Parts: sequence; structure tokens; C-alpha cells
Amino acid sequence: MKPLVQSKALYERAREVIPGGIPGIRAPENFVPGAYPVLLRGGRGGHVADVDGNDYVDLLLGYGPISLGHAEGEVDGAAAAYAANGFCLNLPQPVMVELAERLVTLVPSAEQALFFKTGSDATTAAVRIARAHTGRSKIIRCGYHGWHDWCAEEDASVLSFPYNDIDALELLLRGHPEQVAAIVMTPVGHDFDAQIEEPRAGFLQAVRDLADAHGTVLVFDEVRTGFRVHLGGAQAIYGVTPDLTALGKAMANGYPVTTLVGSRVVMQSAESTFISSTYFSNGMEMAAALATLSVLTREAALDDIAEKGSRLRREMAGLVEETSLPVSLSPYPQMPFLHFDDSEQPGLRDRFYGALAQAGVFAHPRHHGFLCWRHDDADLARVLDGMRAAALAL
Ligand code: PMP
Repeated sequence: MKPLVQSKALYERAREVIPGGIPGIRAPENFVPGAYPVLLRGGRGGHVADVDGNDYVDLLLGYGPISLGHAEGEVDGAAAAYAANGFCLNLPQPVMVELAERLVTLVPSAEQALFFKTGSDATTAAVRIARAHTGRSKIIRCGYHGWHDWCAEEDASVLSFPYNDIDALELLLRGHPEQVAAIVMTPVGHDFDAQIEEPRAGFLQAVRDLADAHGTVLVFDEVRTGFRVHLGGAQAIYGVTPDLTALGKAMANGYPVTTLVGSRVVMQSAESTFISSTYFSNGMEMAAALATLSVLTREAALDDIAEKGSRLRREMAGLVEETSLPVSLSPYPQMPFLHFDDSEQPGLRDRFYGALAQAGVFAHPRHHGFLCWRHDDADLARVLDGMRAAALAL
């Protein structure tokens, strides 16, 4: 591993002209300062390269959008071919209709679709549509839904409940009769700095039933699980259909396009509110999404990812047992994660993940990882070797 000289120098330059140098969740303090690079130069397949020329097996994949692999020729080719003809036009293009039609065939809750640029756009549109649809204002939420004000802080109109706690949700609904416009939740529990949680048996159906009983719109935030755990999202696995679903990330292999899909009757309330942006109808990203969905489907890439993930998970479980590493393991093979409860042994997590980065594996210490279609057996072997070395060094 080459020393992180360029990372350090560029970070110093960035601090002069950008608040904090590296804003938001990508700030060096959120990794292990000194052990992780601060800036990356590029990516190919299941790897990323830092500005000092070090290569890493990438287990974070841009926080989820890279479902196939970095610089995937078929997707980038489709986007470039589209862009060559102009993609930011006065009016939407046929590709928007095609993508909406594609989503309607893939996602159980989808009868109609709207398109956006970010996950935050899609969840915020869901809130606005649910409020227009119900004439109510309160939102009950569970999970991370983006950076916009309604989900950044709790106030009188936005309440929250813990994942898998149906009693807490019922109490909130009863306490605010005929006031709750929407329940917005991730169908899978995946909070920052916590292990991923599967829904308890019957939990999602119980949420569906409560939403119906209270005349509340049910919104699944599948920005992370969509096109990742299943082409139809987690809702296709658990057999519970929400009214609205926010999707993004894995849909376009990194290109900025997200969507809100849902039942015709709820989606049509979009017409009685205002949702608009200069860039929402750009066709290039939609062409990239269609190409990504085409590869995901044709190659059964999600099955391949799940199979590789299951192998990796088995090996990781063996390693954890052998080395008595104080961690829990993600239940989803597509989203591997060794989570340290840092209150137990402070510092252990940073030493482990710092050593892993130095062994050429880019995994986030506090955020679950992802696997992509292009990860190969050699990549998985490097991940396991790195984990073994890091665990033994503790
Ligand atoms: N919902 C979920 C479940 C997410 O994971 C994220 C992003 N991490 C968002 C919403 C927000 O998406 P974006 O960062 O694209 O605005």
C-alpha cells in the first residue's frame, strides 16, 4: 500500500475552498483517519483506486448505486450514445415512458411512476403526494430517508417509531386520529451504525393493516433495497405491497435517477400538488437505468450477487467464530456487514477497519456494505484474507 500522500495534500486544499474539506457522510472522520484514503480517482468492476494509486476491492459501491460494477461498458455506452443526441431538453423524451412501463412490470406496488434525481427527492415527493391525497399533515417515519428538513429533525408534524416495533406505531396512530398522512419506512431496518434487521414475521403485514385501518398512505423507502435484494424490491420478498415506493440507487448503476412508484389512485394526487425540477426529465440517466435493468434481468445478476454473498457470509461467519470477533453479521448476503458494538470495546472497530483498508478492502466501519455483479472470486478471497489478517491483528 502506497502512503496516502496525495489524499492528504488534496484534503488540505479542499479545506480551503469547501466547508470541512469533504462535506457530509464522506468526511474522513466517518472512516478511520489516516488508514483510509480521502479521495478516490476511479473505479472499475468491483474495485476503486485512490488518488495515490492504491487499489481496493470496493465493498461500499458508492453507498449502493453500483449494482453491476464501476465503468460498466453496456450502461456507460447506452448513456453516452443517448447523450450524443442531446439529453437535457425542453420536454421529456420517450425513454421516460419506456422506463415507467418497465418499472410497472418489475415492482409489485407500481402502477405509475414519477422520476427524480435523488433518493431524498423521491421520499419528499412521497410525503407531498400523501399529504395532498389525505388532506392530512402528520408523517410517521422509520429509517433514514434523506437530508431534507422533514426527515432531518423531529417536530410536531414528523414523528418516528423504532423498526420492528408495531406497538409503538399503533400508539402513534391512535394518539393522532385522522391526522397521519403517511407512514414512511424502510421495509428492512438499516440504520447508520447499526446491524441490518430483517422484518419480524408478520411485522410488515401488520403495518399494512394499521395503515389501512387509519386511512394512512403506506410508503416503503426502498432506495437501498430496490433492485438489490430483489428486482421488485423487499416488497416482492415479503409479499406486502405499499401504496407508494421510493426507489433509486441500484436502478441505474450510479447515474442520478430515482423514482417514486405507486398505485394509480394515490399517485394521481401528484397532480394536485407541485413537484418539479429542471433535471427530472433528463433522458440520459433514464437510458442508463434501462440498460442497467436490462443487464440485471438478462444476467440474473441479483441471483449471482446473492449466491456470492451467501458464500462470503458463510466464510465470514466461520472467521468470526474462529477469531471470537465481537461483531454481528448482516442477515442479507447482498449487503455484507460486520458490525462492532463500540460501547463494548471502544477502538476495536477502528483498528479492524483501518487494517482492512490497508489490506486493500474498502468497507465502511459504520455502514453496511454491498456486493456487485462484477465482484469475482479473487475479490472475495481478498476480502476474506483482509478480514482474517485484521481480526488476527486485534
Ligand atoms: N432513503 C434511503 C433508504 C437511503 O439509503 C438514502 C441514501 N442513503 C436516501 C433515502 C436518500 O437518498 P439520497 O442520498 O440520494 O438523497
